[in-house]
Amino acid sequence: MTKIGLEIHSQLTNLESKLFCSCKANYREFEPNTNICPICMGLPGSLPRLNQKAVEKATMIAMALNCSTPERIAFFRKNYFYPDLPKNFQITQLNIYGDTSVGGSGILMVGEKKIRITRIQLEEDPGRLIYEGSSEKIKSH
Ligand SMILES: [Zn+2]
Repeated sequence: MTKIGLEIHSQLTNLESKLFCSCKANYREFEPNTNICPICMGLPGSLPRLNQKAVEKATMIAMALNCSTPERIAFFRKNYFYPDLPKNFQITQLNIYGDTSVGGSGILMVGEKKIRITRIQLEEDPGRLIYEGSSEKIKSH
């Protein structure tokens, strides 16, 4: 028997705002560096406010995949620069303080196959990053 592990990312596309501020979640209509606020920039004194809808949607996914859901979750900041999120992105993750994922130990049945879901994390979308020479173009207004 061969076992494989996959890390799968999906986007919660129907959210109105980013994960920690009221900036629009649909960044595709903006040029880089235009869909940002003091929270996105991580300016001193700016206080992030967690998007409750995002947590609810992620928890619904966890429940649909028969995962356990914790009483508390925690976010950790990763240090990569993105134009629309200079403060860097935040993510739930497995850590030394305990499992603070949105969901864990789930099962998805596909016919007779049992697919184990190890963890479900909620990760802040860093926004839009287009590399020079990329085939993706900025939409002109
Ligand atoms: Zn913002």
